[in-house]
Amino acid sequence: MKYYEKVTGNGKKSIASDDDIPLEKWLVCYRNPASKRHPGGSVFIRQFYAAGFYEAYDTVLTYAENMNMEVMWFREKRSCEPFLNYDIPELESLCTYCNKKFNDLEPMPCAHEGCMAEFCSRQCMENHLSLRHKVRGKSVHI
Ligand SMILES: [Zn+2]
Ligand SMILES: [Zn+2]
Repeated sequence: MKYYEKVTGNGKKSIASDDDIPLEKWLVCYRNPASKRHPGGSVFIRQFYAAGFYEAYDTVLTYAENMNMEVMWFREKRSCEPFLNYDIPELESLCTYCNKKFNDLEPMPCAHEGCMAEFCSRQCMENHLSLRHKVRGKSVHI
C-alpha cells in the first residue's frame, strides 16, 4: 500500500487517499419490524461494497434510517463463512426487467422456480414472466 500527502484546497494536509483502501464486499442483516408480508417482522441479508469499516458503517446506518430498519449485524463477507458461497442480493438492487435501481428490502422475486431475478414491481415481474418464461400473468399467485 502506498501513502502520499495530498494538499487540499484549504491548505490542510491529509495523509493517503481513498484509493488506498480496497473495496470489500460487506454483508448486512436488517430487520423490518413493519413488514407487510411478514406480520412478526422480517429479517434480510444484503450485500454491498465499501472501502473500510467506517464507510460500511455509514452505508448501513444511512440505509437503516431511510428505510426504518433495525440493524442486526454487519461484517465483511470474507469473514462470514456460512455465506461465502451464496449469492446475496445487493443493497441497491437493479430491477431485472426495467433496470431501475430500487431500495425495496422486499423486492418482488420471480415466481418461476429456480430463477433468481428480482423486480421493483409486480408489473415488471409479470412482464418478465411472460417474456422469459412464457408464463401468463393470470396463472401467477403471489
Ligand atoms: Zn422494474
Ligand atoms: Zn424469472
